[in-house]
Amino acid sequence: MADLLLRTNSIVRPDKDRFLNEENPFEAMMVRFDRAAELLDLEPGMYKVLRNPEKQIIVSIPVMMDSGEVEVFTGIRVLYNTSRGPAKGGIRFDMNVSLDEVKALAAWMTWKCAVVNIPFGGAKGGVICDPLKMSIGELERVTRRYTAGIIQTLGPDSDVPAPDVNTNERVMAWMMDTYSMHVGHTVNAVTTGKPVAMGGSLGRREATGRGCMLMVKEAMAHLGMPVKGATVAVQGFGNVGSIAAELLQAEGFKIIAISDRTGGFVNRKGIDVLDAIKYVNEHKTLEGYSKGDAISNDALLLLDCDVLLPAALENVITTKNASGVKAKIICEGANGPTTAGADSILDDKGVFVIPDILANSGGVTVSYFEWVQNRGGYYWTEQVVNERLKDIMVNSFAEVLKLSQQHKVNMRTAAYMLAISRVSTVHRLRGIYA
Ligand code: NAD
Repeated sequence: MADLLLRTNSIVRPDKDRFLNEENPFEAMMVRFDRAAELLDLEPGMYKVLRNPEKQIIVSIPVMMDSGEVEVFTGIRVLYNTSRGPAKGGIRFDMNVSLDEVKALAAWMTWKCAVVNIPFGGAKGGVICDPLKMSIGELERVTRRYTAGIIQTLGPDSDVPAPDVNTNERVMAWMMDTYSMHVGHTVNAVTTGKPVAMGGSLGRREATGRGCMLMVKEAMAHLGMPVKGATVAVQGFGNVGSIAAELLQAEGFKIIAISDRTGGFVNRKGIDVLDAIKYVNEHKTLEGYSKGDAISNDALLLLDCDVLLPAALENVITTKNASGVKAKIICEGANGPTTAGADSILDDKGVFVIPDILANSGGVTVSYFEWVQNRGGYYWTEQVVNERLKDIMVNSFAEVLKLSQQHKVNMRTAAYMLAISRVSTVHRLRGIYA
């Protein structure tokens, strides 16, 4: 009956090649979704359901600043789709946070959880603020008031946040504590990416970078490229970029360039990643790092290298610069680093792109492990976490690759096809509640 309902709706699909605004991440997501939906011959009703976020919450966050003045920030939480399980997705503190960005990131989380087949839906949240200009006290007050503002959606069975850009273990601890105070007892499964001392999982902090390393190795093996001495350029040197760089270096790759918001450095002889991490720990950013030649973030993307790992923000590889990319493999550590318009340019050049919803799924996979451990009250060793992460990611890579070969599509389209078919299967089984 529900299936019939879904099939009898009619819809005019937008032109699959339209790029209304290349910089709009929600558009970028939708163009990819449309391509995959068409190849899957998704029924019109299902197409409509999956193109719309389930819930969008916008809250004003009044906060007493250290100066004694009240500032009002805007906070957003979007639950894109929860058909497969509780909503899962990070919280971003950044001046560029917008509803369209959060919607796109929430949709990506939905597809990402489905690609690696973990029983979560997708969500994302953000607060428009500049955390680098705020004191610890101000950050804590923003976090707690934002948490209180979205408290109705939160819960281990409904909506489980995690860290994202400019948020970390400490922010997750404050969110978990605020939620626990509201419900009157300790609920550690309400956030993931928490400090290990309060129920965080061993291996979670490194999980996204570790997943990137695993995916790059799978791609190298598939393409028959030797790992020893293969060159890597990494944009973004935070949680994902620095750990991916460290782990790739440990595997024998040569990291020739790194960057952060202050700019980058290139050294063809190889950058000592642990030394650079130590520098950032001491100085907060890479600014002033002396063991390489200065390079801009734009130039880093066009370096002659085997692997390019964008691990900062979205929209860095676009129709304007994609033709200049020289890397053979792009591993999308960041969410949405490549615009939809750039996809076909990279395809034409023969660049093997490991799409974000696969490449950076290590984080949410170990978040899932953390949630499972919290709920079971039984904690795993780091070795077990890493082994299970490897199993899931290597299998997912193989599934996506197989689909891409069967349908003669790139890895991104194949990953979307796999994800959309999994989400739509559950929708069909559940039917439409009326
Ligand atoms: P982070 O805050 O730890 O690090 C971000 C890094 O990017 C910093 O080095 C920052 O200086 C740099 N950066 C910011 N703006 C930049 C710019 N304009 N140019 C170059 N570098 C810039 O964040 P993170 O957790 O490492 O997240 C990075 C990306 O990975 C984001 O797209 C995020 O959504 C994605 N991601 C993160 C996780 C996770 O577990 N942390 C999981 C999946 C995806």
